[in-house]
Amino acid sequence: MRTVVIVGAGPAGMLAARQAAQAGAKVILLEKNERLGKKLVITGKGRCNVTNDADAGTLVKNIPGNGRFLYSAFAAFGSQDLQHFLQDHGVVLKVERGNRVFPQSDRSFDVVDGLRLALERSNVEVRLRSHVSELLQEQGRVAGLVVNEQPLYCDAVVICTGGASYPATGSTGDGYRLAAAVGHTIVPPRPALVPLETKEEWPKTLPGLALKNVQLAILQGDRTLFKEFGEMLFTHYGISGPIVLSASRFVTHGKGSQPFIASINLKPALTEEQLDQRLQRDLTKYQRKEIKNALDELLPKRLIPIVINAAGLEVDKPVHQITRGERQALLLALTDLRLEISGPRPLTEAIVTAGGVSTKEIDPKTMQSKLVPGLYFAGEVIDVDGYTGGFNLQAAFSTGYLAGQSAAQQ
Ligand SMILES: Cc1cc2nc3c(=O)[nH]c(=O)nc-3n(C[C@H](O)[C@H](O)[C@H](O)COP(=O)(O)OP(=O)(O)OC[C@H]3O[C@@H](n4cnc5c(N)ncnc54)[C@H](O)[C@@H]3O)c2cc1C
Repeated sequence: MRTVVIVGAGPAGMLAARQAAQAGAKVILLEKNERLGKKLVITGKGRCNVTNDADAGTLVKNIPGNGRFLYSAFAAFGSQDLQHFLQDHGVVLKVERGNRVFPQSDRSFDVVDGLRLALERSNVEVRLRSHVSELLQEQGRVAGLVVNEQPLYCDAVVICTGGASYPATGSTGDGYRLAAAVGHTIVPPRPALVPLETKEEWPKTLPGLALKNVQLAILQGDRTLFKEFGEMLFTHYGISGPIVLSASRFVTHGKGSQPFIASINLKPALTEEQLDQRLQRDLTKYQRKEIKNALDELLPKRLIPIVINAAGLEVDKPVHQITRGERQALLLALTDLRLEISGPRPLTEAIVTAGGVSTKEIDPKTMQSKLVPGLYFAGEVIDVDGYTGGFNLQAAFSTGYLAGQSAAQQ
């Protein structure tokens, strides 16, 4: 019987372990933390957006970082397979807006419990508090690894150590060092799906203010790099939230010396004409007030002075003195409120790490290293990164499945 050792008990590692055991191997799952899936439980704000209810082609399209490398993995274990697998292990699922799949309970812990059950049913030996520091090779093949400073010999190793973001969860980039030490190229890790810092100070005065149903565009010179509807929020350093995370790739992967500008349309559901009518109605209704007290029906209170300033007006200007030109300036501030991006937040705060073990050195049909036989990779340690919406977890589960299956059989 082949012995397969899996390093890291995140989603990729747990699926790899379960699948290798199902395929007939003796499996040991090593995790340096004191529990399984420490990052998994914080995903989706504790609700775990476990996958996207989509076919392989759509999954690939939503993984801008080397999505095509994942075709075989998605064919082997796609979104439907994952959903059936989880339901078979007691996790009832629901599909929300944008085909995002969550546990019915809104509890990510239920997903971890389902995976734990799968490991138990497959007789995987789980060893917690087990830190892997080195790979052992014999005649160019993997022969084992060093765990808690002791050698452990085996036939195959699957590295599922994750990326280098949110390091408190255990994803500290160890897999990059393990892979590099046996000759793998590591594409430099960098933040993906990351909040953005702004040059302007005003977002920092509105921490926690969330804007729903707005449109965010990222502009550079006369080019629009990104445009999407959704939710965003202001923070003590700039902007965050789902559409900002999606937009961040265009900043982190951007080229050119011109600055990146975030343009926020606060009223994207209205045409310019409709918004103008709406504004005129409010200005007529509140003509005896100052402008700062006339926009409550259009904007969150804390945002009102910001929009007025952006339009070049004084906040205490009486409404009846507002000229047609000033109304036009207000309209512009409502539909094109601009911020200059000074840069992304650091890698440690990114939802996902771009970069990692080069896909060129991994066989996409098996996830085996092309350099070191017996060595496999799965999950975020590979140079793959997707958008929000469940695509990153699906990539981790699918590559974990394929790596576990192949490691048990080859
Ligand atoms: C706040 C947040 C929210 C997110 N929400 C979502 C979401 O809703 N949907 C989605 O699709 N994606 C989401 N993601 C991304 C997703 O969590 C990751 O892409 C996914 O967890 C990667 O899985 P993985 O198994 O490759 O690595 P990880 O989940 O990072 O697991 C790696 C494991 O390896 C262990 N390990 C590392 N080094 C060693 C070592 N030397 N020895 C032993 N063990 C080791 C670590 O302790 C860890 O448990 C989110 C990420 C964050 C940070």
